[in-house]
Amino acid sequence: MKRVAIIGAGAGGLSAAYDLARAGCQVTVYESDDHVGGLASGFKQPNWDWSVERYYHHWFASDKHILGLIDELGWSARVIFPRPVTVVYHDEQFYPLDSPMAVLRFPGFPFLDRLRVGAVVAYLRYVARWEPLERVTAHEWLSNRVGKRAYSSLWEPLLIGKFGRHYKEVNMAWFWARIKARTPRLGTYKGGFQAFMDDLADRVRSEGGEIRLQTPVTEIQPTGDHGLQVQLEGERSAFDHCLVTTSPPLLANLAPSLPDPYLKGLMEMKSMGAVVMILSLKHRLSEQGHYWYNLPKTAGFPFLSLVEHTNFVPRRHFGGEHIVYCGDYLDPDHEYFEISQYELLEKFIPALARINPAFEPEWINTSWLFRTRYAQPIPPINHSRSIPDLQTPIPGLWFASMSQVYPWDRGTNFAVEIGRQAAARILQAN
Ligand SMILES: Cc1cc2nc3c(=O)[nH]c(=O)nc-3n(C[C@H](O)[C@H](O)[C@H](O)COP(=O)(O)OP(=O)(O)OC[C@H]3O[C@@H](n4cnc5c(N)ncnc54)[C@H](O)[C@@H]3O)c2cc1C
Repeated sequence: MKRVAIIGAGAGGLSAAYDLARAGCQVTVYESDDHVGGLASGFKQPNWDWSVERYYHHWFASDKHILGLIDELGWSARVIFPRPVTVVYHDEQFYPLDSPMAVLRFPGFPFLDRLRVGAVVAYLRYVARWEPLERVTAHEWLSNRVGKRAYSSLWEPLLIGKFGRHYKEVNMAWFWARIKARTPRLGTYKGGFQAFMDDLADRVRSEGGEIRLQTPVTEIQPTGDHGLQVQLEGERSAFDHCLVTTSPPLLANLAPSLPDPYLKGLMEMKSMGAVVMILSLKHRLSEQGHYWYNLPKTAGFPFLSLVEHTNFVPRRHFGGEHIVYCGDYLDPDHEYFEISQYELLEKFIPALARINPAFEPEWINTSWLFRTRYAQPIPPINHSRSIPDLQTPIPGLWFASMSQVYPWDRGTNFAVEIGRQAAARILQAN
């Protein structure tokens, strides 16, 4: 019986744990938080019957790995797929842009440019090979193909919003993957993503796996006899294999005996953090019932996305409250990671009246703030050459993180895929 430690009970760690426990391994999942789910976890108020994700989450209809796992577990009836409306900003107005007809009607740039945008999207959906696209930046490729006007009013603000000062470094394969893998229909799990993570954790336990919450791993050391020692606060355990699902710098911290060039590679993998404020409101914010607003920084918005969750799932699940996210991707040293929740709220509130002029601060029942410095890997030119393999140079030590699902954009779907790939490799290994 292989003894396997998994560091992290997010979508990747739990999927790997499920496969390994089913295959007869002795699995222990270590999780530093007091709940499973990682970045996709949620929280619940006493009067809510569904949880709200700490960071806004939905699935695309094309998310075959996670939807496939759910199907395999017999839970497909617990997935719902509404079609909420996503809008982009132009000249103090918001327009849907999530269908070919919507693109043709968009007033942000001339009709000929709209045709070019439609043709480029169709081309990217059709093209199967992303490798040639990683040799050029999205900035260069898109501005050449759709023209400066369409690019600067449509995609440049999104790239700036997501990658800040790094936006011109991002390669075109990453953009291709977003177009390829996204659908207008968006899905969630009945009860919220946390309900799915809890169900998956229960299944891991019923397959014999152990999940230890509030148990941060502090170090992983090779033992010399092809085993690994996992160090916890005041405790040490021996394993044959260890799968780490944290960020690359955290792996470097946990396993300092990895060879120097490998450690250097991990430290060079750049990513953006995320800051998300959740508001419970007395009234609906979007009068038109829109779910997702893309907001350009150039128009003075203090955050990138406004997401009215209760225009996606019914507010009756949240005691009738209206749930709104204000979210942004930022460099890990941005001031939004340091200032207080109150100061951030002060900065965000004026933007809400631009969504609905009737908005008053009294509408806010309460707010929650979530921040993570590891939220969105940044993929530069020829990024595939820098992606670490699942197997690290230390025998028995494996690594499966958001930074390795490239060219796909990070997501629970790809966390499940890479977690299950790692489990398969561990099962094949000695
Ligand atoms: C703002 C935002 C929006 C997103 N939107 C979507 C979306 O709409 N749809 C979607 O599918 N995905 C979305 N994602 C991405 C999705 O959340 C991630 O891709 C996915 O959850 C990653 O899972 P993971 O298991 O790889 O990592 P994580 O979820 O990060 O799990 C790693 C776990 O390791 C634990 N850990 C760290 N260090 C230690 C340690 N030393 N010891 C023990 N445990 C440790 C952490 O607490 C964490 O629980 C979003 C992410 C963000 C930030």
